[in-house]
Amino acid sequence: MRLLIMGAPGAGKGTQAVGVAAHYGIPAISTGDIFRANVKEGTELGEQVSAIMAAGNYVPDELTERIVADRLDRADAADGWLLDGFPRTLHQVGALEAHLSERSQALDAVICLDVNPEDLVTRLLRRAEIEGRADDNEETIRHRMDVYLESTRPLLDAYEKRGLLVRVDGNGTVEEIGARIIAAVDAFVA
Ligand code: ADP
Repeated sequence: MRLLIMGAPGAGKGTQAVGVAAHYGIPAISTGDIFRANVKEGTELGEQVSAIMAAGNYVPDELTERIVADRLDRADAADGWLLDGFPRTLHQVGALEAHLSERSQALDAVICLDVNPEDLVTRLLRRAEIEGRADDNEETIRHRMDVYLESTRPLLDAYEKRGLLVRVDGNGTVEEIGARIIAAVDAFVA
């Protein structure tokens, strides 16, 4: 099973990615988590991305694409994966397609978590209190929403045209949404 999970910042992608990936026995791969771990460990990659992330901008495509390609080629991802937070640009979509077609692989479904826009900022501000992420302050949150709408939201139309999009209502409890995603994906790939 090769899946993407998409949605606006604060839609709950990361939380759901972990549960859904565990259900299918595949790794959840989050570019945001990979970058944050590198920032925390002070690696060279971390140094390259920390200011970009703190400002709520996207890490350059080539760099992001290289990180993802390396991660997808690891042994635990041989039989499938769920990508959370990638692709985010049209360029990244192309890079993923190239990576997959070189390996005679294909995406099975693209999950889109739909959440009321007015709830997103509230959720992110609450997460800021709990997790203390450097990019979860009100100004950066609004900027990330704008970047998402401009650069990433259009990808949903592209995947919809390709018949891969599975829209899921992302309002509710973590358990309800998780069950909804699994039911929707199972019905879609059946
Ligand atoms: P959220 O979806 O809440 O914004 P993520 O953890 O997915 O959080 O991403 C956090 C940050 O990591 C992004 O704002 C961006 O700076 C960087 N990032 C993550 N994934 C990508 C990507 N595919 N391309 C470019 N930058 C990315």
